Amino acid sequence: MPFEKLGYHITSPYGYRTDPFTREKNTFHDGIDLVKSHKAPIGAFVGGVVLYAGNGVSGTGVGGYGNVVVIQDKNNRAHVYAHLDSVAVQRGQAVGQGDIIGRQGATGVRVTGSHLHYEVRKKSSPSLGWVNDPQARTLEPTKYLNDYYAAENTNVYVVRTGDTLSQIAKAHNTTVAILVQLNGIKNPNLIIPGQKIKLPGGKKTQTLYLPKSESSWRVYPTNVAPVIGNEKGFLNPKKFGGLQYEVLGKPQAHVVTIQTQDFGRVNIYVHPSTGAVIK
Ligand SMILES: [Zn+2]
Repeated sequence: MPFEKLGYHITSPYGYRTDPFTREKNTFHDGIDLVKSHKAPIGAFVGGVVLYAGNGVSGTGVGGYGNVVVIQDKNNRAHVYAHLDSVAVQRGQAVGQGDIIGRQGATGVRVTGSHLHYEVRKKSSPSLGWVNDPQARTLEPTKYLNDYYAAENTNVYVVRTGDTLSQIAKAHNTTVAILVQLNGIKNPNLIIPGQKIKLPGGKKTQTLYLPKSESSWRVYPTNVAPVIGNEKGFLNPKKFGGLQYEVLGKPQAHVVTIQTQDFGRVNIYVHPSTGAVIK
């Protein structure tokens, strides 16, 4: 979760809620409310160009937002940081991810306490992406940031004539199995020039190796306990001379999350006594 990692508490999520000000039910919250502490410095969640900095004037698209900073990212989305105590940037300035853009505050109308209201608007113009419908004008910020960061951490290789997947894997210090899985490739022998191959880069990835001695390895849905009876299916490492997967997560001790062809995203029990190796 991008916000918790940066030290924020989420006090009100994006989406339908009871309006904290009017107590009206089922109103749509077009952003996420985050709290560090009053006047805490606020870093930009993504870099970009400042489109607006200062008191949100009526008619601009951020009227009533108090002291507000709007940053346009490389996808032309508008990131809105509202109710700031003060702003630390100027219109036209380029800011990098993590740069301080202001301090947490309680400025603007309809504010119940010091917090950061953070909003990702689909468009940055006209009127800073404002349209009347709060759901239509915005994106779910947690998902947007996760996708944005994931894309930044992914390298892409463009296939050239004569390339094979195993050459590409070798050249980038990875395996065919990982490229197949990462790219959803149906037939590893069929890649075409110009095709974009995502590479496991940026974040250091770990690989799970399942030994070929096993023919029936349980995998579990990610939302239930990984115990016998809850299986989603079975992997057959024997059939493939062993199997390899990129480790996508470690939800608990000796359990990792992987993406499989047959069962999608699943959890798998990989205690060293099972013969599984992670490296
Ligand atoms: Zn809010």
